[in-house]
Amino acid sequence: MTHAFHRFVLATSALAVCFMGSAHSSDESFQTWMTGFRAELIADGVSTNIVASMFDGIEPDDVVLERDAYQPEFVRPMWVYLQGAASDARRDNGRAAATRISQTLSGVEARHQVDAYILTAIWGLESAYGAILGDRDIVRSLSTLAWDGRRRDWAQGELRAVATMIERGYATREDLKGSWAGAMGQTQFIPSTYLERAVDFDGDGRRDIWANEGDALASAANLLARAGWEFNAPTVIEARLPDDFDYVSWGERQKKPLSEWAFAGVRPASGEWSADDMYRDVRIIMPAGANGPAFAAFSNFDAIMRYNNSTAYALGVSYLAKRLGGNTALPGGWPEGDVPLTRAEARTLQSTLTRLGYSTGGVDGIIGRNTRAALKRFQADHGLIPDGYAGRNVYERLLEAAG
Ligand code: CA
Repeated sequence: MTHAFHRFVLATSALAVCFMGSAHSSDESFQTWMTGFRAELIADGVSTNIVASMFDGIEPDDVVLERDAYQPEFVRPMWVYLQGAASDARRDNGRAAATRISQTLSGVEARHQVDAYILTAIWGLESAYGAILGDRDIVRSLSTLAWDGRRRDWAQGELRAVATMIERGYATREDLKGSWAGAMGQTQFIPSTYLERAVDFDGDGRRDIWANEGDALASAANLLARAGWEFNAPTVIEARLPDDFDYVSWGERQKKPLSEWAFAGVRPASGEWSADDMYRDVRIIMPAGANGPAFAAFSNFDAIMRYNNSTAYALGVSYLAKRLGGNTALPGGWPEGDVPLTRAEARTLQSTLTRLGYSTGGVDGIIGRNTRAALKRFQADHGLIPDGYAGRNVYERLLEAAG
């Protein structure tokens, strides 16, 4: 999906998982980069007027370089993130916003077959229901990132998408405001996602995700619909695993029909599984390991992760949506004494695992799927529950095992 950079940014604000890298390292001046790139755009057929409107007078933005280089040391635990994402205040603001635009919201839901509470929750997490859009010049932000060089190909691709947006009349040069990382409007789409997924809900010829709530919410709905959204189906349901749950064969990406999990003794945290859900494919996730809550994640959960590839974000959207629609409590039972590792500790974890023969595919201080898989193998070999959760407890066991 083309939301790649945006997802990192959200992961940064959400979980403090951040980029590797440094501030500007190229010797090339900004003007030299810009002159070359402008010539490339014109050679590719972009009109000189559009190129001039985009780049004339642009200077690099130091704030963009600072934010891009920022690497927070502490990772916010899932339970802390979730409390903020689906807080009472965000729920109350969401109910007020949904009431204010109820006709638009039901129109979008009917047209795109994506649940209104989910759209409202995404709207709340992306832009505080349209209140915080970001007022940085997108072209300037992306140009700074392109010049900086670390993600030049990505940033130049996004600038090409901006040129197409203007060319097709979807947005004007003045509209192009957003975050330091190029995410725009009430949905925080990057330009390539905008081109592929934004829609014109009110039919005025523009895809105005900045000022027009219908266009913004319909664009989010279109993204989810194209990611396989199933209307009126669950996103995620908290589950209880049986004592003999097979952690060894379990994997966070493993999908099975809910009926198979139910047969193995997986129960919902309350009530009964719905008969309608039995044929649906489900992953079992344990975001804080076997000592925290487990969840049955449906394909709609994965559709939300196409918006932003973060389990925390998808849980945040799901629980905020549940809370907008009712009195759902947030999941409890988190291992509050077993907090995520700092970046420095995560690097030690990765290098130690690798040294012991459990390759993490690199040492970057970011706990991703490869690190969790390596940790899971270590746990299985050392008589621990192989849940792949990189908390303080397993870290200490690992250091012991490494001597
Ligand atoms: Ca429109």
